[in-house]
Amino acid sequence: MPHSANNNMTTKILIWMVAGLIVGSLINILAGESGFVQDYLVDGLFHVVGALFINALKMLVVPLVTFSLISGVCGIGDIGTLGRVGVRAFGLFMLTTALAITLAITVAVVVAPGEGFDMRMMGHAGFTPPPAPPLSQVIIDLIPTNPVAAYANGNMLQIIFFTILFAICLLMIGERGRSISEGAEKMNDVMMEVVNLVMHVAPVGVFALMAKTFAQQGLGLILPMISYFGVVALVLLLHMTGTLMLLLKLLGRVSPLMFLRKMRTVQVFAFSTSSSNATIPVTLRAVEKRLGVDNSTASFVVPFGATINMDGTAIMQGVATVFIANVYGIELGIGGYLTVIGMAVLASIGTAGVPGVGLIMLAMVFNQVGLPVEGIGLIMGVDRLLDMMRTAVNVTGDAAVTTIVARAEDELSLGTYYDPAAGHMEEVHLPHEAASEE
Ligand code: ASP
Repeated sequence: MPHSANNNMTTKILIWMVAGLIVGSLINILAGESGFVQDYLVDGLFHVVGALFINALKMLVVPLVTFSLISGVCGIGDIGTLGRVGVRAFGLFMLTTALAITLAITVAVVVAPGEGFDMRMMGHAGFTPPPAPPLSQVIIDLIPTNPVAAYANGNMLQIIFFTILFAICLLMIGERGRSISEGAEKMNDVMMEVVNLVMHVAPVGVFALMAKTFAQQGLGLILPMISYFGVVALVLLLHMTGTLMLLLKLLGRVSPLMFLRKMRTVQVFAFSTSSSNATIPVTLRAVEKRLGVDNSTASFVVPFGATINMDGTAIMQGVATVFIANVYGIELGIGGYLTVIGMAVLASIGTAGVPGVGLIMLAMVFNQVGLPVEGIGLIMGVDRLLDMMRTAVNVTGDAAVTTIVARAEDELSLGTYYDPAAGHMEEVHLPHEAASEE
């Protein structure tokens, strides 16, 4: 009964997530002051278990991307096709981000959050942005001076660049390279099995992360910011269930409902970790095993997207710009908004998908259009929660584009896509279990 086994796993992760949310919120309300609960439960148990889970995910990213990419490029087998996939993916990533922020600005201008906002309600938290890399440096940094350092630091764009180059040359040496490409394929299988193992402890990890965040965060923070928070949440939902699904239907010619159904687990991972990067293993697994995208497309487009594609983050930036402009009574005008759109698209390329990076990008945008950067202090209080929500949208965009590109390349197995049971999660066969089954 593979089907129900898979549903059980997804349902289990969801239940534990909601349980974590409830437990965390209760702690925040009832035991916010209790030193014991804070020290031993929130900063103790939840923190340790949550951090272990995130570490386990991050541990997989670099080896998985490397082996998956080598076998992917060798699977494509031809440099022209690789270039075409890259250009298509890049174009679509830019398109979805531009659509996302345009939608965000439009809705925000109509709803006008922040008008009549009383700044005294918030106290005045200033914000000093950490330095963001200039675009020229981002381009220069595409090529690592030392690939080992790139691997050690987990610099995704550099890793992608070097690995693709390596794999292309592997193809170029022909027969002599075959054992290496076959080896990479086997290593990829092994890493996917490790992903499966980690997914089995996911419910507990997700619970701990959620409980910790909500114990610290508390939902009360949202109230004074409800107009800003509400507009961001609304546009995130519109983009995820509207724009992206329309693109999937029109360009990918596949059922959006099936897509959303199979993306649930990935979204929960993104939500609870707030990191597209840490979610890469889960996204890769879902896109290949659940949706049926061939490894040759997925191995390249998914990590690429996790780094350069951030629809949800762009949405937050669009709404935040309008909100802060309203609060400070600054008129941005069409030119200002167009600059915001361009900047948000560019900024998403240069910054990696890790928690909280959206605020750094926002500082870049504000600088460019002349909004007060310290205004970001106003929205920081609710950013943790919005980070979780927008990361879920970011990974949905990554997977949607991957699916569309795969469909165009004829690398999408429709049989797998429409099979609700495909890629179910009970493929873990520990040796002793396998033996006892016989
Ligand atoms: N946390 C987001 C991500 O990893 C980026 C951000 O918006 O801060 O995709």
